[in-house]
Amino acid sequence: MDENHIYQYSLVNALMAGVVDSGLSVQDLLSKGNQGIGTFAHMRGELLMLDGEVHQLLAEGKTRVADESDQIPYAVVTQFVAQETIEVQLKSKDSIEKVLDGFNKHSANVFMTYRFQGNFRTLKCRTVKGQEYDGQPLSEVGKNQHVQDYENIEGTIVGFRSPEIWQGFFVAGEHMHFLSADKTVGGHILELGDAKGTIGVATSTNVHIELPSSQKFNETKLALDNTGIRAVEG
Ligand SMILES: [Zn+2]
Repeated sequence: MDENHIYQYSLVNALMAGVVDSGLSVQDLLSKGNQGIGTFAHMRGELLMLDGEVHQLLAEGKTRVADESDQIPYAVVTQFVAQETIEVQLKSKDSIEKVLDGFNKHSANVFMTYRFQGNFRTLKCRTVKGQEYDGQPLSEVGKNQHVQDYENIEGTIVGFRSPEIWQGFFVAGEHMHFLSADKTVGGHILELGDAKGTIGVATSTNVHIELPSSQKFNETKLALDNTGIRAVEG
């Protein structure tokens, strides 16, 4: 992939509909970029790709490096090259918005990607535990998520900001996953407090979307559930 192009496999709408049985292999996903986020088959945990490794962030604060053959039903990745890198202090999750708004290539209508590395005074992450039955939608899977609080933890955020108009294809607004510096814990970020570190930011105007060719994807009636996405991915 060219630098700062975005590659996405499947759609958030498909995740919401529970179309998560199979997908792209980790090996194929690694050829698409150097950082990204997503989930695993049957929504067993959160995915974070960082510099040639795909990490599976599991409930109860465990992680593993994914096998090349693991199936990824949804992921968004980019060949990230920061266009600007600055030192920042983030009071809360919303502070990311202000940092991105201050980036001189910012526009509400293009994608933004970023990587933050630093220390978090407080951090709240969730990990989905996985489907309890075939086809269980994300809105239900999310109700049984594992939530973990951390204090004074070092680590990395991989994040994407997608324009509002793309809701349902992507997660509109911020979508961030975290991996600790020692790579032992991580998850989808719900809240953060008083983080200090370095953020690299880039805009992206090239988006490549690959849709699943599975029978399940073809047969599922996809719909936009704006409220549901905000509840589970906010
Ligand atoms: Zn997530």
